[in-house]
Amino acid sequence: MPAVKRILIIEDERPLAEAVGFSLEREGFQVDIALDGESGWRKCREGGYDLVLLDLMLPGMDGMEICRRLRRESDVPVIMLTAKDSEVDKVLGLEMGADDYVTKPFNMRELTARVKAVLRRWAGERQEKGDRLLRAGDIELDRERHEVRVGGRVVEMPLMEYRLLELFLRHPGKALPREYLISQVWEGDYFGQSKTLEVHVRRLREKIEPDPSRPSRIVTVRGVGYRFEAGGDGS
Ligand code: CA
Repeated sequence: MPAVKRILIIEDERPLAEAVGFSLEREGFQVDIALDGESGWRKCREGGYDLVLLDLMLPGMDGMEICRRLRRESDVPVIMLTAKDSEVDKVLGLEMGADDYVTKPFNMRELTARVKAVLRRWAGERQEKGDRLLRAGDIELDRERHEVRVGGRVVEMPLMEYRLLELFLRHPGKALPREYLISQVWEGDYFGQSKTLEVHVRRLREKIEPDPSRPSRIVTVRGVGYRFEAGGDGS
């Protein structure tokens, strides 16, 4: 049985938010509503949503800001609710990167059709990307481009550090023994210099840790090795 899709609606006009929520629930979606930008952003960060319906004009933090922030750390599909057609370029442009938009006033049938279309497209793309992208928080390892991005910026990474990071991203939350890491990363070319793994871990930490002197992502497990914390962004 396919899992129920969860949709977050961020919209300050309560009657509209509730009407949209009602229509989507009737289509079998599970719906959460946030009536202002801040609580919407908090809910976004808690995660677990399959799609976000985001009003552009919100009190407090507006939809544009939320979309921009969201894009930095997640690939959850976003459909913007806009009041004017003139905002569309901006909304779908690179700066904000929404997946689609609906102009107010809209009818519910149109909206639910868009929601389903975006979810379908996204599922297809995700399958395609599947093994290509490994990510945790704002860290992204692109196996096709052989590139690592942190917070959207490309970070130079020598091969051994790259392999090490790939292993960590594949096994989040698990203590990985030193011997295992060495055998996987160096593939037998490790000349027993006991400090080499530590040196590479230290360099990697400098590139991906918010505070390398107090690692929250690559955590040392005494007597064993290291554990990668996917949620260890210090916040
Ligand atoms: Ca509004």
